[in-house]
Amino acid sequence: MNILITGGAGFIGSHLCREFLGRGDAVICVDNFITGSEDNIRALEDNSRFRLINHDISQPLFIDDNIDWVLHFASLASPVHYLHYPIKTLKSGLLGTHNCLGIAKAKGAKFFLASTSEVYGDPEVHPQTEEYHGNVSITGPRSCYDESKRAAESITYAYFRQHGLDVRVVRIFNTYGPNMHPNDGRVVSNFIVQALKNCDLTVYGDGSQTRSFCYVDDLVRGIMKMMDINYNMPVNLGNPAELYVMDLAKKIIALVGSSSEIKMFPLPEDDPKKRKPNISKAESLLGWHPKVDLKEGLNRTIEYFRRKLDL
Ligand code: NAD
Ligand code: UDP
Repeated sequence: MNILITGGAGFIGSHLCREFLGRGDAVICVDNFITGSEDNIRALEDNSRFRLINHDISQPLFIDDNIDWVLHFASLASPVHYLHYPIKTLKSGLLGTHNCLGIAKAKGAKFFLASTSEVYGDPEVHPQTEEYHGNVSITGPRSCYDESKRAAESITYAYFRQHGLDVRVVRIFNTYGPNMHPNDGRVVSNFIVQALKNCDLTVYGDGSQTRSFCYVDDLVRGIMKMMDINYNMPVNLGNPAELYVMDLAKKIIALVGSSSEIKMFPLPEDDPKKRKPNISKAESLLGWHPKVDLKEGLNRTIEYFRRKLDL
């Protein structure tokens, strides 16, 4: 198949590019490298079935090739990044999604949207099911991301209903693993890099907020399965093993064998207090369940950063 993927030089996108090439597909990777990295795709660039287009997907893109799938993964994704670039974040979700849908429609391709658990905002329903409509602050600092993804879903379903476009939407919960940027700012990469450098771990708030962390290989397996079934409505993908951010910090210090200490910093505004996916839909539709537990996933990620940073 011919696959066009935006954000292909990013963390999740680069794993998907490798997976598609591995099964014989041709990949067009569209990325403007705002957070993506050449390192993530260097090993793919020798493959004749891989093509990189350096382009900002919030601008229209015209390509000659036949395309079977358009996967839209380009977005600022770390709170640190989207708080720094709120307008670019909105443009990737609003204009970028529109442009990708336009490509899919013109090419008769299927469309796949990387949505997020952030569409549920600071959730009042726990664990979060796909039916929950969310609790998002419209004007808060995170709204540039949350609302851009909610609007991305909305325009995706407008194309589905009005044009009959064949669409997939996954709502991804906190995912971690190799190819995350060391300065990405998200909690797993921050804590691992801090622990490897024996620096203080920066826990925001009192660390009593929860998250549920999915290892990237599990997520990629879920995404590939989602492409193989005929189901158009949103599906949560994430690992339901929930833990306190404080416990994550302690676990990472122990696994690294670090002498780091934990320091508390103010909790960012609107930081969700808890998050855990209900994955019944993914389990029944895809026969999917995460396989890599937190300890194993963290150990693999620690080894990645140890090598990358030479620590
Ligand atoms: P990432 O920052 O590593 O990757 C995003 C990629 O998109 C980068 O390569 C970046 O350069 C590129 N990009 C951003 N804006 C662009 C634009 N306008 N034009 C072209 N390229 C652009 O983040 P990630 O964690 O790999 O996230 C990938 C997708 O998955 C995002 O859409 C994100 O919202 C979604 N997601 C990720 C998580 C997670 O925990 N990792 C959770 C929920 C949703
Ligand atoms: N967090 C933290 N220290 C850090 C980075 C993040 O305590 O150095 C917290 C953050 O406040 C949030 C959780 O960890 O409660 C997850 O943050 P992340 O940025 O990874 O993603 P989010 O789930 O908030 O989108």
